[in-house]
Amino acid sequence: MKIGKLVAFLRGMFRRRSNVQTQIDPALAEQMRMTLTMVAATREQEIGCDEAYAFLDVYADLISRGEDASALMPLVHHHLEMCPDCREEFDALLLAIEATSA
Ligand SMILES: [Zn+2]
Repeated sequence: MKIGKLVAFLRGMFRRRSNVQTQIDPALAEQMRMTLTMVAATREQEIGCDEAYAFLDVYADLISRGEDASALMPLVHHHLEMCPDCREEFDALLLAIEATSA
């Protein structure tokens, strides 16, 4: 399934990058934005908990780096606004990231 492949791709990309502690370069951010815009176009303007959850670590990673995560990943942002369960999960994840990167 296409979404699964995309998630795996993004996760792999971030895992490699987070190892070397680099900033997200603008080209990568743009590529992600385009990819997610494309996903949005094919899947209407909402995602479910499974998809939000799949992107949660990437989203939290963006925020912990001071990136404009809500602009880069608007669907995830929207889902977190709507869904207390995922929001709770996200808050915990963000705390964990900030605790380990401090
Ligand atoms: Zn949810």
